[in-house]
Amino acid sequence: KAKQNGRNHFCLYTDILHQETQSNAILEEEMSYALQLEQFVVYYQPQICTKTKKVKGVEALIRWDHPTRGVLAPGVFLDMAEELNLISEIGQWVLQTACNQLKQWQLQYNLLDEELTISVNLSALQLQDVRLLSLVSHALESSQLSPCCLELEITESSIIHSPENIVERLHELTRKNVKLALDDFGTGYSSIKHLHLFPIHSLKVDKSFIAAYKQKKSQDKVLEAMINFAKYLGLCVIAEGVETAEQLDFCQSQGCDLIQGYYYSKPICAADFEAKYLAI
Ligand code: C2E
Ligand code: MG
Ligand code: MG
Ligand code: MG
Repeated sequence: KAKQNGRNHFCLYTDILHQETQSNAILEEEMSYALQLEQFVVYYQPQICTKTKKVKGVEALIRWDHPTRGVLAPGVFLDMAEELNLISEIGQWVLQTACNQLKQWQLQYNLLDEELTISVNLSALQLQDVRLLSLVSHALESSQLSPCCLELEITESSIIHSPENIVERLHELTRKNVKLALDDFGTGYSSIKHLHLFPIHSLKVDKSFIAAYKQKKSQDKVLEAMINFAKYLGLCVIAEGVETAEQLDFCQSQGCDLIQGYYYSKPICAADFEAKYLAI
């Protein structure tokens, strides 16, 4: 009896696997047209200055407005985009869209270059691309956005392969006045070594460290040390994933420069971002 049950479970499991493979194949097929069909959207999440409480930066985060599945988060489709070799094209589209958007906001709301920065995530493949500098230059030139308004977010895991070439490429970007942020800090390995290698402007403390800070007055020595370490190196410190007033207070008291998280806002579409943060 037990054996039979086991076999049934096995059948069910392979069925599910089969269905999953099929639906993945459909999604892959659909993704190859998504850019052309203009189904990708950029959402924007504010980074609020702890001193002025004003929005100082905004991170561009891709979404796929899928015709039947609704708005899909990058976790659902970015790996697939990478496997299908679409990530560079999609990444360039995000970069261009984000630069265009900030330029439009600058013109519409009379913003100075130093008032608002746009952050764009770079995938590992974009970093390894020899054309990176010219692709970034192209996005800046065609949008007329000043390079100092653009921050590129990189993760440690994306640079562990062939770091020498990438390091040189990153230096070229900073010579152009583009800023770099180290994203998800603390989740990769040899974080400290990377801080010395890269010309980094900001450090984003990974949200898992913020999530670990639960109650008021709890002693989070690790989070405290990370923030202070970044500050000691003279970096702009961004706390990512701040959801509660307690987390906000703690990050603020430790001297974080910018706060990004649901406490202030989830990533929202351009029109909503504009209404909430610019049209005031
Ligand atoms: P990330 O760059 O670390 O972006 C922050 C992620 O944390 C976003 O997830 C954001 O929605 C989420 N987040 C922000 N505040 C909170 C909070 O208070 N609580 C919680 N639980 N989450 C919060 P999202 O938009 O799903 O993006 C996930 C990841 O996908 C990003 O992580 C980034 O690595 C990647 N990604 C997003 N857009 C792009 C893109 O255009 N290009 C590339 N290469 N990667 C992207
Ligand atoms: Mg990021
Ligand atoms: Mg992050
Ligand atoms: Mg991440």
